[in-house]
Amino acid sequence: GEKYLVERNSNPEVDYERISILHDNAKFGYLGMTIAVSFLAVVIANFSTSRVAITWMSVVVISYLPRVSLSILFSRKSARREINKDNIGPWERHFFLSSILPFICFSAAVFMPYGESRFEAITYYAVIVMSLLAGGVLTYSTSLPALVLFMRLSMLPLIAMCYWMQEFMSVALGLTLTFAYFLLSRLMTRLEKLLLENITLKIENQHQSLTDPLTKLGNRRRLLLHIKDLIPVSLRRGEQFSIILLDIDHFKIFNDENGHSAGDKLLVELSKILVECSRDQDLVIRYGGEEFLLVLPSTSLEAASVLTERIRAVTKERTRATISAGLAMHSDQEGFEQLVQRADKSLYKAKESGRNKYVLAEAVSR
Ligand code: GH3
Ligand code: MG
Ligand code: MG
Repeated sequence: GEKYLVERNSNPEVDYERISILHDNAKFGYLGMTIAVSFLAVVIANFSTSRVAITWMSVVVISYLPRVSLSILFSRKSARREINKDNIGPWERHFFLSSILPFICFSAAVFMPYGESRFEAITYYAVIVMSLLAGGVLTYSTSLPALVLFMRLSMLPLIAMCYWMQEFMSVALGLTLTFAYFLLSRLMTRLEKLLLENITLKIENQHQSLTDPLTKLGNRRRLLLHIKDLIPVSLRRGEQFSIILLDIDHFKIFNDENGHSAGDKLLVELSKILVECSRDQDLVIRYGGEEFLLVLPSTSLEAASVLTERIRAVTKERTRATISAGLAMHSDQEGFEQLVQRADKSLYKAKESGRNKYVLAEAVSR
């Protein structure tokens, strides 16, 4: 079988990207489907009766309703940011399951009572299905199961009917479609594999551009991404957040005395301490050379002080260095830069007054 460069379904972030694209594409797919169903209804009305055509069309439209509802639900939830990499998995299964019935109903058009003009009707159907397939391959390209389902259910009944009619022209059409079926099957898996690789690379790239290679902490770019939502969300929820700006004391001297690589090790060790001491929802950023910034959602200045004291104590215990810190709590009016400036002033005061300590920024005066 095909060898996958990327482990299938192993990375929730890849799945998130993949399934989001699937649902997003499906929205455009409905337009193509509507056109195809309308056109095919005219074909059925022409070669069979308008009653058959209306019945078929109604059944197809009704069978699509669960999937359309699913699409609407997904759009709403994703606009409200309720869908994330941990809960997106089932959305692919739901999509697949709700696609089975509409695909079957659609391809039932092959078996309508066309009488004498069966071959003509089937030819029209073949033309429509093949054009639709082009869109289908693009629509479902990030979900191989949905893609395979679509192709099988739209093509196999048609191919079977072509052979069943046992006319020279119909068998010729059947052979052509069989060839197309195998060609598409092969190309489809390749396309999906390429897409998956692309998505994986994109995510890896994103990670790398947001991560400091030495400490594996987020960098300033990561911080910028994070703070875009931070202030509006905090204001809406009425929660305060605090930051800690933290700097190693006399790091220049440490480097001079112990060497640059020992300095690097210290940076890595301190990063570990910061991550260990903070909570999951806290963001730890390597802000500069030996400066770190912690963003602590729904945290008062007192709680931030307790955390800083713990970091200070653990650092003193586990390393040969000490740290100083400036703490500040966000106030309604200020932007993130102002907040960091206040923390920076406090850090400066901590350094000035002897290091190995932290200083709290005063509340913003109105
Ligand atoms: P202070 O207590 O006032 O903060 O003094 P300091 O020496 O820590 O501060 P200063 O800003 O004078 O020096 C920072 C030093 O940090 C200088 C630079 O060589 C070192 N540094 C910055 N990034 C790295 C790094 O990635 N690895 C190592 N080993 N050293 C670094
Ligand atoms: Mg320093
Ligand atoms: Mg510094």
